[in-house]
Amino acid sequence: MLEKIKQEYFDRSTQIILIDKENKILDSDHRLFKLKTGTYLHDFHAFFFTLLDAFESDEKTQYFPSIKFEREGEDLFLDVNFTRESDDKASIILNDCTKYYKDLHQIYQIRNESILKYRISEENNRVLEEQRNFKNKFLSTISHEIRTPINAIKGFLEILTLTELSQEQLDLVNIIQNSSNNLISLIDDLIDISRIEAGKLKIDSKRFDFKAMISALEETYSLKCREKGIEFKLAIPKSIPQYLVGDDLRINQILINLLENALKYTTSGYIELRANIKKQTSSTIDLKFEVQDTGYGISDKEMENIFIMFDRLKRGINVEGSGLGLSIAKQLADLMNADISVASKVDEGSTFGLDIKLKISHNQSKSRKRKSKSLTELEPDKKFRILMAEDIEINQMLIMKMFRTHPEYSLDLAKNGEIALRLIKEREYDLILADLTMPIMDGLDLTHHIRTSENPKISKIPIVALTAHASNDEKEQTLAAGVNAYLVKPVNSALLFETVAEQIKKSKRSRK
Ligand code: ADP
Repeated sequence: MLEKIKQEYFDRSTQIILIDKENKILDSDHRLFKLKTGTYLHDFHAFFFTLLDAFESDEKTQYFPSIKFEREGEDLFLDVNFTRESDDKASIILNDCTKYYKDLHQIYQIRNESILKYRISEENNRVLEEQRNFKNKFLSTISHEIRTPINAIKGFLEILTLTELSQEQLDLVNIIQNSSNNLISLIDDLIDISRIEAGKLKIDSKRFDFKAMISALEETYSLKCREKGIEFKLAIPKSIPQYLVGDDLRINQILINLLENALKYTTSGYIELRANIKKQTSSTIDLKFEVQDTGYGISDKEMENIFIMFDRLKRGINVEGSGLGLSIAKQLADLMNADISVASKVDEGSTFGLDIKLKISHNQSKSRKRKSKSLTELEPDKKFRILMAEDIEINQMLIMKMFRTHPEYSLDLAKNGEIALRLIKEREYDLILADLTMPIMDGLDLTHHIRTSENPKISKIPIVALTAHASNDEKEQTLAAGVNAYLVKPVNSALLFETVAEQIKKSKRSRK
């Protein structure tokens, strides 16, 4: 039986040939190929020329794997074994390994293809990542560049409203103010998107006054609703603790977004802001905010896309917008592990929900701010000397105009940090207003030079940074560098003078 199986195997796959030194066939079986005795093996296949040298080699046996032959139009892959039997005779064993080599080839091919596919997808990902980085960088750079001139427009408009204007002129100024506010909020949206996508938007966790946040929303939206002829309703349980811990700026941003939409897409009826306690422990609270309106509503089809960037209502309703708000709100909610939901009926209205878990502050007592006296009360006859380092002329003019209505200050100007530093060494200043982006020496470098000065009169001067880049990272970096306060352009004059007075007072107190 064993012999029979062996025989069958050899019959199928092996041929033995006997040759002399010149490759002449002395004998052969014919299992794979019919070979005539007396003919030359290299005439049958050029590979066998190699064997002419094999006779001269010191090796008695030699092995040549995977030599390609052809039989009746079919490729065969054979292993060839050469054995020198005597000085002038050798045996050749041809072993048919076609199936083995073909399978192997296929395995290699599959492996190579998958390696290739992997490399292609890696390359595609790299290109996508590069494009995304470029888009984010482009968005954030352009947005910051646009913020600077709008800052000037807004500031001068503010000054223009303080001059004598006819009603018609006031109406026009109002329209420009509204448009520049819309432009600024669009730019802020773009900055937010680029920062969320670049993973740079960090969620804060700090104690905040929940009631104050809701009151501010109530004040703004009851007024806005009244102007539009709709009702504003508020339903907030008194039992929600006043001081919570979380990112109030971002929660506020989401609520404003939902309220603005409710206002935009409602022409009659009401808008309601509600909050409900879903669960409360001694240290946490699960809140559900809801913003309900009686507006256009959203169809099932539209509902699929409302959280997608740039997707807008298409029912021919002429309402301005960029289609960014809900997408940002959703991404902010995700960053805070919160949920945004929506239920709506066309022509009846919509209800947007925000489910969020917050911590309850251990300290529920109001932190009392010392009522600060005005600077002039503190030192009635003194004029405080301020140095402003700012390279952009229009921003210089704007701040100069603001200071014109505050005679308790005198203002000097420097075009960059280097000039500012020279002036600081020549004169005594009560405060430095420093733009962060300036040529030659920027605001951070200037701060560094001031803070490391050996002269304590210089090293202790309060510094207020002005920036067009509203980001938490930059704020932290700036404060860590020794800046005392950080204001974002377009800066409103009330906040500017409040900050300037506060910082001067603080520095006077610390020097006493
Ligand atoms: P925008 O309002 O700038 O278009 P949003 O991202 O805030 O962008 O909203 C996306 C879309 O969702 C809107 O264009 C509108 O179709 C729909 N939408 C959002 N809020 C409401 C609402 N309260 N009522 C009706 N439709 C809404």
